[in-house]
Amino acid sequence: MQYLFGAWDKVRPLIKKAEHILLLSDYDGTLTPIVERPEIANLSENTRKLLRTLAKNPRYTVGIISGRALADLKGKVGLEGIIYAGNHGLEIEGFGYSYFDPVAEEVRPFLQLLGNVLSTTLKGIRGAFVENKGLTLSVHYRTVDETEEEAVADTFKRVTDPLHTTGRIRVTQGKRVYEIRPPVDWDKGKAVIWLLEKCRQVKRKGRILPIYIGDDLTDEDGFRAVEKNNGISILVSDELRQSLAGYFVKSPEEVVKLLEML
Ligand SMILES: [Mg+2]
Repeated sequence: MQYLFGAWDKVRPLIKKAEHILLLSDYDGTLTPIVERPEIANLSENTRKLLRTLAKNPRYTVGIISGRALADLKGKVGLEGIIYAGNHGLEIEGFGYSYFDPVAEEVRPFLQLLGNVLSTTLKGIRGAFVENKGLTLSVHYRTVDETEEEAVADTFKRVTDPLHTTGRIRVTQGKRVYEIRPPVDWDKGKAVIWLLEKCRQVKRKGRILPIYIGDDLTDEDGFRAVEKNNGISILVSDELRQSLAGYFVKSPEEVVKLLEML
């Protein structure tokens, strides 16, 4: 993994000669800094302006892929003419298409119920809370005291293990968050491939350069998909860690710098 701005001489020509660029970015921790509660992670006016400018450029198609629910994500970003992929791509809107995973839709009432059970069982742990995102659930523990983290893990495991092992749900982990997803073989990487294909059809361009920017474990699927399609994958991380990404930047501020350079 190379520091993106250190390798800019290598990256710049790829961007310059691309016929069309599919620029995909995660939201939390990538376009915005990680904050204690997801509802206060707001996009800065400057970043919004940069995304709008890129989206209006005919050489670019811009999309945001997030673990947030689609409606929540659209509200947070508030831009027209870009692609939105919510719930890790289980719901996508863009290119005049809407994609909603049918199996995931069926699980919605069950997840609602499971969310209530988890909320109740986690009640005694200060700072732990369940976010119901319709097609997925998140159990956040960003503000939980370190001494209580194991209690969160134990409670989470006790409730979800039977469902997980019988294939009724999928469980993943992010930055101080557990996620429960429907038993659908779908992730940010599959969403990237789907969007790349749609982009080829709509833009009638054979060679599209995909760029993917993300900070979390769930973004690794996106990195893998982009690497397979000769794209540029960029991890946002202030510490060195194992990743499938080809490049890294150190912070959401540096993502802004990248958008400016693009
Ligand atoms: Mg993120």
